[in-house]
Amino acid sequence: MNASPRKLTLDEWDDRHEQLRRDGLREPTYGGPLRRHVVRDRNFRLQHLQFDNSPAALRLWNFLLTENQRLHQARANGDKLVGAMKDLGTVPVMAYSLPSMRAFYPDGAWWTPCLMECGDMLLQQAETMGLDSSFCPVRAMLPAFEHGGHFPRPDLLVCSAGAICDDFSAIAQRLEHLGHPILWWEMPRRRQPDSGETACALPGGLSAPKIQVDCVRAELGRVGQALGELAGKHLDDVWLADGIRAANRVRRTLESLRRTVYAAPAAALPALEMLVAEMLAIHFCSDREESIAVLDGLLAEAQSRARRNQFAVSADAARIFWVNPVADLRAMNLLEEIGGRICGTDYMFTHALDLIPEDLPPLEALARAALADPMVGPASDRAARIVRECRANGAEALVVSRIPGASHCAREGEIILQFARREIGIPAIELEISPVCDAMRTGLRSRLQALVEIARDRRPA
Ligand code: SF4
Repeated sequence: MNASPRKLTLDEWDDRHEQLRRDGLREPTYGGPLRRHVVRDRNFRLQHLQFDNSPAALRLWNFLLTENQRLHQARANGDKLVGAMKDLGTVPVMAYSLPSMRAFYPDGAWWTPCLMECGDMLLQQAETMGLDSSFCPVRAMLPAFEHGGHFPRPDLLVCSAGAICDDFSAIAQRLEHLGHPILWWEMPRRRQPDSGETACALPGGLSAPKIQVDCVRAELGRVGQALGELAGKHLDDVWLADGIRAANRVRRTLESLRRTVYAAPAAALPALEMLVAEMLAIHFCSDREESIAVLDGLLAEAQSRARRNQFAVSADAARIFWVNPVADLRAMNLLEEIGGRICGTDYMFTHALDLIPEDLPPLEALARAALADPMVGPASDRAARIVRECRANGAEALVVSRIPGASHCAREGEIILQFARREIGIPAIELEISPVCDAMRTGLRSRLQALVEIARDRRPA
């Protein structure tokens, strides 16, 4: 089954899947041909994507695209469902520490208009609910809640408040007014400790005053109590410590995968599959143990390809550091079509990639991890990490992909670009990618192509 790396269309994957089955491929319960996600779930975008040809990538896609069905099944089996909103990576670690509990992000509806090529009508429905295109695509979450048909309604909804974007704050408040009670917890805007204040080290090389860590720890204590009440069990430190260790297992594997693919001279896996793999860190795609198996498979594939000197993207490709997730997954294919490759990322949840400290009381460790969220601190902190990683991975250019309507990035993109230009002098652009970017594909292609050409021209002769 060690075929050379290749990109396949959905049609080609039909044949490849048949062949793999004939050759004895064994799949998990959620496995099967990718085509069914178009026929059954109307994920039409899959017909316009290029996929990696490995069985590990097949498993990744099937895992991602069956999440809602798996959540419905979990409820039918008696599991409790927690809808975590906005914190991207902290509350799920707590929820999965309890038996028979799953957490997912309703925010994930963000990608539904892309996957269904707007055939879901979620964005149009959001508009009738007062959320027009001046809001970011996360507005799809509101009609997804109201009308059902996507994810199951959670038994408990939890959302961070305070240092969050205006879009999410407005949408979550509207959700509550529509009759979906929310347990809010406060996330202060991270700041540097003043002189004379006790400082706490955070993951990612950051720091915050102890008073902020104490505040978040107390807030997470309230969340933990609510989770325990839902589960009918006390969420104690022993369980939380186990949950942190398991989350770190996911993060360690992901870190190995990112290093194997991003830091290497050539990329063993394509950018699109790597984006999906990174997303597993935030809530384990609703199955923590399986997400570890999926990532183990990808890592084994990437390492095997590297040993065989076979790569998904040529060594000549321009090394691009990419900031923010793309609203249209197809943009990741486009980058590689025009001769670029990803050598590092900041998809807005770098705090979910960093290890959670295991040598601190669990709630304290989680509070520090939550405060390391790149979106709750100054853009300069985020820019500094991006520059550090650009240097470490030899980035030749930087792309900040703007999300249409997103209130978090009105100025942030410019701050990151200026910082990167000043510190490392690599070419850097900001571009906007809508949930279905076909209409702007020509413009996107020429801007990315120009960036790639400039990056290549700067190489020493
Ligand atoms: S504005 Fe930005 S941070 Fe806020 S929900 Fe949209 S993408 Fe996320």
